[in-house]
Amino acid sequence: MLFCRVSAVSQTLVRWGRRSHRGGGLLRGAVSFSSSRCHGSAQPTETDSAQGLYRDTVLLPRTDFPMKLSGQKLLDRELEIQKECGFADLYSWQRERKAKREFCLHDGPPYANGDAHVGHALNKILKDIRNRFEMLRGRQVHFIPGWDCHGLPIELKALGELGTSGLSPLQIRQKAREFAEGAIARQKAAFQRWGVIADWDHCYYTYDAAYEAAQLNVFQEMHSKGLIYQDYKPVFWSPSSRTALAEAELEYNPDHVSRAIYATFPLTTLPPKMASEKAGLEGVSVLVWTTQPWTIPANQAVCYMPSSQYSVVKRADNSQLLLVATDRAASIAALLGTELQSVGTFTGSQLEGGLCKHPTIPDKEVPLLPANHVTMAKGTGLVHTAPAHGMDDYSVASQFKLSVECTVDEDGKFNELAGPELHSLSVMTEGTDKVISMLKECGALVKEEQCVHSYPYDWRTKQPVVIRPSKQWFINTASLKDKAKEALQKVRVLPESARSSLLAMLDKRTYWCISRQRSWGVPIPVFYHRETGEALINKHTVSHIAELFKEKGCDCWWELPVEALLPPEVLKKSNAGPVTDYIRGEDVLDIWFDSGASWAAVLGEPDPRADVYVEGKDQLGGWFQSSLLTSVAVRNKAPYKSLVVHGFAVSEHGEKMSKSLGNVVDPDTVINGGKDPSMPAYGADVLRWWVAESNVFSEVQIGPTALNSARDSISKLRNTLKFLLGNLQGFDPRAQAVDPKQMHYIDQYMLHLLREFSIKVTDAYSEFDASRVIRILQAFISRDLSSFYFSIIKDRLYCDSEDSLGRRSCQTALEEILDGVTRSIAPVLPHVAEEVYLYAPGHDKGETLFKSGWIKSSSVWRRPGLEEAVEGACAIRDSFLSSIPGKNAAQYDLTIAIEPGLLFELMESLQEEPTSTSSQLAELMMAARVNLTSELPRDLPPDTLLSHGTFLINLEGGVIREDSAYSLAVVPTSAARCPRCRRYTAESADCLCPRCQTVVSQA
Ligand SMILES: [Zn+2]
Repeated sequence: MLFCRVSAVSQTLVRWGRRSHRGGGLLRGAVSFSSSRCHGSAQPTETDSAQGLYRDTVLLPRTDFPMKLSGQKLLDRELEIQKECGFADLYSWQRERKAKREFCLHDGPPYANGDAHVGHALNKILKDIRNRFEMLRGRQVHFIPGWDCHGLPIELKALGELGTSGLSPLQIRQKAREFAEGAIARQKAAFQRWGVIADWDHCYYTYDAAYEAAQLNVFQEMHSKGLIYQDYKPVFWSPSSRTALAEAELEYNPDHVSRAIYATFPLTTLPPKMASEKAGLEGVSVLVWTTQPWTIPANQAVCYMPSSQYSVVKRADNSQLLLVATDRAASIAALLGTELQSVGTFTGSQLEGGLCKHPTIPDKEVPLLPANHVTMAKGTGLVHTAPAHGMDDYSVASQFKLSVECTVDEDGKFNELAGPELHSLSVMTEGTDKVISMLKECGALVKEEQCVHSYPYDWRTKQPVVIRPSKQWFINTASLKDKAKEALQKVRVLPESARSSLLAMLDKRTYWCISRQRSWGVPIPVFYHRETGEALINKHTVSHIAELFKEKGCDCWWELPVEALLPPEVLKKSNAGPVTDYIRGEDVLDIWFDSGASWAAVLGEPDPRADVYVEGKDQLGGWFQSSLLTSVAVRNKAPYKSLVVHGFAVSEHGEKMSKSLGNVVDPDTVINGGKDPSMPAYGADVLRWWVAESNVFSEVQIGPTALNSARDSISKLRNTLKFLLGNLQGFDPRAQAVDPKQMHYIDQYMLHLLREFSIKVTDAYSEFDASRVIRILQAFISRDLSSFYFSIIKDRLYCDSEDSLGRRSCQTALEEILDGVTRSIAPVLPHVAEEVYLYAPGHDKGETLFKSGWIKSSSVWRRPGLEEAVEGACAIRDSFLSSIPGKNAAQYDLTIAIEPGLLFELMESLQEEPTSTSSQLAELMMAARVNLTSELPRDLPPDTLLSHGTFLINLEGGVIREDSAYSLAVVPTSAARCPRCRRYTAESADCLCPRCQTVVSQA
């Protein structure tokens, strides 16, 4: 009746109002309350002889589902589950089924140069959690794992100490391929063991012929748009690996020590404006500062800032005249340990037209030139400019047509052009020494100091790099930057804070050097004219090469004669001369270009765009960016709709993992255990739980503490699952489930909570927030299930007759809860979830959880008035329990007095009769007997505990509000304890309570 009335109020919105002045939270009151009466009655230590008599009539939980698995048993079980539940076929199964929507997560290819590490685990499991979730909720998941297979690090490892000596490019390539294949096989086996689903027989590899062909097509598109060009300019060069490097391949060492020097360049021709303003400036020298003395021989100019002030100063100790920036004079004086007396001050623009004598090259003069990159933050405000060895220097050279002649060879040694004194000296070591001593000899060295600063190193060899000019192929990223930024605006970035790093990295990179002087990679499809050196590259040549690569793989670049690579028809279309005029290029493409083109090679037509890319934050300047640039260049849009950027795995103490620190956590040891007994076998699900539980957007710590905690959390979860399974033994939901409308209100209420739980869990998974899923799960289990619901229903489950409506109602709810909880955690713990599913009722044998969908939720669970009834009763219960602190509620009779109104009607729906020991209200209160009345009786016994409270019923967002008062009277019950159910509901000590009498007599 009540529900009819309330349901008339459509769109009911319930809010918690003021509750009993003594009550705690809704469910908190139950925590301290022990209620395992019937449970206790079955414990073997129980001495009650009568209890033993009825033991067999009590329905205790029974299941073979093991509480805990450890050691080899755990490992065997996980592998059995993978096999029995078809982990290997799952991906193909879901690709073949019909689905309305696709979810495409494009896998960033790990590098194929070593074993799987914990960083891979973090990344791959994070992706798998999302993929499994999407699959469960009916999406068709597109996820093709890949590997980045080319590049110098693999080449170096494959060749070992032998180096390239005497090996042809094809021999090097063969060794590198074998090495990469080995690493891929080991990594793949690890990913499968972690439970990552994919079609592992059809992954992508950047050394696949089809991949290489697709990559060349991207190259061709970009070249035809004029975005790829050849140029001679300074690039980062690694002498230790003899190749050019891109910005993304550098690591900055903040502790690098350089020999910084102050040196003089005597002014041979005074700037005319200076000379006209001040007489007696003969013998002035320009003072410069550099941290790279080896670049002095390559000096072509000294730059000044036109808008700054400069002074000619006289050294107090030796009367030398120096030209320095006025702002720098004081700190230079301190450095030199002498006073500097100002002789004259000029603005930078007055320095125009000056010429200096080069300190180490006889008869060479270099000009004073204006430049905007001159800084006043350090040095002298006058910048030594060596166009071959600095990016800013190079732009000055382009503007003023200075020479960019290179005096350093590929090994980082001075070449012949540097002169006989320097030739063949390594620039970073003895070459620097020699230049400094030459400066000293000619009197140009003013001061030398050690300078600790951040300096670029080769990310693989860990050796310092130099800047030197060479002829390389470049992508004009400056011209792509604006489009790339615009495309990024449409991309969702998680966390949003990563967006600014991505933009900053785009700004920083004005060009991208894509040629590498190695063999293990995709060749740049270019031919050079034998005589002129002119490059031959166009859509006809590149398309032909792409076709050949598709058919034969790119080894054919080295295998085939040039005539096959450049057939007559291609030469004709290219308006080129005879094939004998041409030789093939020897450079390969940067591996960031390989992987950056993966969207074109891997994602399906017609719109190769992924829903999401998920990688570590190191990819902000790497794959995220190279993919964006190539995609924007070819089709003016990003290859991803969203980006998820996660942190790195670090040691338990927050340190970076490294072999030298001995703090590397090996995922294989985590799963299978180590030799040391302190490293038990945790299995794959613990590793997955660790990933899920972590805040992956920051640094993620891993070690025994995190792993043990993950294992314990899973144990607690298993405990709950075991309780659910145990009480569902023999229950067939398809035949025995109770219609929701006929279920007990508390059971319906649990379905309502389950629905809210599943909505929250679904939201959290959609946000890549598995740690929130775990928090929601743990709160649901500990607060709503263990402390509240499970404590209330044990009597009904164990002591009511097996097929009673009340018990079946409860089992109906438990079955839904088991199903919901198992599915909610399945993306994180696929092994545990499938194991539970093997024991769970309600489905055919052989059916697996992952093929049976996401959490079911029925609208019937949202019954208006239901929440108010149960939550009102819970508020009253809180008051009741807090009036008898520490006592057993079952030993009391409770009288609830409520004035006629909405709250009374709500309570009446839980207990129709004025007094009851078996109503839903009595069950919720856990009291011996509950009397429901509109007024407290006048003749209460003297030991009655009285209390009062109010409950605010708030319907329709406040349109209907009713603040209802209630009074409680609590007295010790006069009933005796029933020997079967141990509730205080029996007439006398040796007599069963009426409910138990009925149950036992029917048995
Ligand atoms: Zn009983």
